[in-house]
Amino acid sequence: MTSPQLLLDQLAAEIRACRKCPLGRLRTHAVPGEGPADAELMFVGEAPGYYEDKQGRPFVGASGQLLEKLLAGIGLTREDVFITNVVKCRPPANRDPLPAEIEACVPWLQRQIDLIDPLVIVTLGRFSMAQFFPPTARITRIHGKPLVQEDRAIIPMFHPAAALRNPNWMRDMEADFAQIPELLERMRAKRAEKRRGEEGPQQLRLF
Ligand code: SF4
Repeated sequence: MTSPQLLLDQLAAEIRACRKCPLGRLRTHAVPGEGPADAELMFVGEAPGYYEDKQGRPFVGASGQLLEKLLAGIGLTREDVFITNVVKCRPPANRDPLPAEIEACVPWLQRQIDLIDPLVIVTLGRFSMAQFFPPTARITRIHGKPLVQEDRAIIPMFHPAAALRNPNWMRDMEADFAQIPELLERMRAKRAEKRRGEEGPQQLRLF
């Protein structure tokens, strides 16, 4: 059986070769994302910026440093989590990704989520939030409020670049991050309960 890490690496190779939208011709490197296939926590940003495009890695530069600092505050490193973006190639001059570009790229994100099956997804910024929350949702109102599904929670947060520009949003982001350990614990318990529920009928069939 192929290991989840190998499948994730194969998916990254497909993303690096993708030309499904015009951004594929403009990029230096596509940025599939990075982190372990068994990550419990997944961060989804908007799109690569200048340095990400040069290096082919997500969240390098000032936003990445802030993300690493916030992760350290809850006892994690970037190697513990999976970090990616909604759009895998840099829009020129860091403009907002266009709806058609998002539509073309989102299936890659969906395949990453399916493979990793994280307990908690943190959306960073409004384009990422819009993939999981209704169009009427506003980041200033719903940041830090998790949407709890069957055995996964999605928690919207400001983008680190926005927090770096606005001290109030920085405080909000720190408070939102502080919720992550407890949320992970809750979702671990929910998933364990779900697994017990799935195993129950099988055990009954043994007798
Ligand atoms: S942005 Fe996404 S869909 Fe467009 S070329 Fe890059 S990987 Fe493909």
